[in-house]
Amino acid sequence: MLNEQTREELWRRLIEVVENYLTKIDTARVAPELDVEKIRGVLAGRDFAEPLGAVESLDFVADAMWRFQVHTGHPRYFGLFCPASTTMGIAADTLVAAFNPQLAAWSHSPFAAEVERHVIRSFGQKFGYDPALADGVFTSGGSEANHTALLAAMTNEFPEFNEHGMRALTAQPVFYVSSQGHHSFLKAARASGLGTAAVREIPVDDELRMNAGALTERIERDRAEGFKPLMIVATAGTTSSGVIDPIDELAEVAAREGIWFHVDAAWGGGAAFAPELRATLGGIEKADSITFDAHKWLSAPMGAGLFLTRHPEILKRTFGMATSYMPRDAAGLEVVDPFTHSIQWSRRFIGLKVFMSLLVAGWDGYAEAIRHQTAMGDRLRRRLQDSGWEVVNRTPLPVVCFVDRALWEGATAEYLEAVCKSVVASGEAWLSIARVGDDNKPVLRAGVTSYRTNVADVDALVESLNRARIREGGRSARNSSGAA
Ligand SMILES: *Cc1c(COP(=O)(O)O)cnc(C)c1O
Repeated sequence: MLNEQTREELWRRLIEVVENYLTKIDTARVAPELDVEKIRGVLAGRDFAEPLGAVESLDFVADAMWRFQVHTGHPRYFGLFCPASTTMGIAADTLVAAFNPQLAAWSHSPFAAEVERHVIRSFGQKFGYDPALADGVFTSGGSEANHTALLAAMTNEFPEFNEHGMRALTAQPVFYVSSQGHHSFLKAARASGLGTAAVREIPVDDELRMNAGALTERIERDRAEGFKPLMIVATAGTTSSGVIDPIDELAEVAAREGIWFHVDAAWGGGAAFAPELRATLGGIEKADSITFDAHKWLSAPMGAGLFLTRHPEILKRTFGMATSYMPRDAAGLEVVDPFTHSIQWSRRFIGLKVFMSLLVAGWDGYAEAIRHQTAMGDRLRRRLQDSGWEVVNRTPLPVVCFVDRALWEGATAEYLEAVCKSVVASGEAWLSIARVGDDNKPVLRAGVTSYRTNVADVDALVESLNRARIREGGRSARNSSGAA
């Protein structure tokens, strides 16, 4: 245990380091050089034989993190929904580490458990659930929330599944997600024992939205072949192109077919908090369950996912356990022990960073941040088009997928890859390559995800891309004339 004086020095330095990071992040290269030897060299000799001073160890780690990570909170990080952390989120996670509340038994951390219940109901209401019925659980992220959805749907459909597992079922369950859906469903299929063959990837239309007609046909075919349709997943904001499936239409198919309806709104669910975008999620209130990640568009530090449902009994039926060793101080109270609702047992107080961020920003503050990022996405789309790039996805959300219009012949995977690499290597911005559509067409992908991203950052990305295109376009022209 460190003495009081050392702790004081440590906290003072910690605040300096954090504040320095927050105010100077935009001066860093967005992405580091990926030099494995250099990184391992920094760790070499740290063999824990000689104790290091507290402040010295803090400085050592902070310096290495400055140098060796993609700064996802950087205003020119145009990446995969890894946002800049909210200030209140950083404070909340610090408090959580210090107080270390245990979110397994209600009676050990009643305030923490009630904060999470309160936040879950507020989110349920925002998505259109009756707050008296809204239930849910905080998860490590969207992947755990999607896994939870699959287990809930299984428990709902097959009461014998919990005790006897897959072998008790007379028909193989299958579930439906668009070809653009998130791969965490494949993982969930593996972890649940269903196997990845149970995942039906439904083709998309020209706008990359799940084709409801193809879905209905596939369900009919599956029934005819003796499979058991279990769950339909609508994605609200696909990872590669930010596209929203036709939620209302898919909800109707699910209702008609009597199938669990889940909406994976891990990122795009943020649209529910900006009134002018809310309509893009129309039908989400009909979902039996919803995945939403507060560590994406709400900028909570990782990991903060949410599983929400309008069936207040389903989580307890899925995860409820009676044990002799868990505290029973709350027996007789009308409360829920969090461990009976969750894949996790001992659990961190995930909800606090969301609660404290909301306390300070309010819904209006979040609406403003979401509106701003959406406007930056619109600007990026316009500026790219003005520079001869062709935007290939249609979404009101700030994810832009594009190829090179001027060099259509050269818009091959290799060329786009080279342009992307060139921008990332320059340290000026970060973006990535994605594959979209049923034919896996390669595209450049830029998403606005940091609340720090402003007009100058969007323009800097476009300029960086234009420079990279001249460098790489020249190179591919030289290569092809060399080949001719
Ligand atoms: C990010 C994402 C996930 C996975 O969430 P994690 O928080 O990374 O576990 C699932 N679905 C969609 C649509 C996502 O964007």
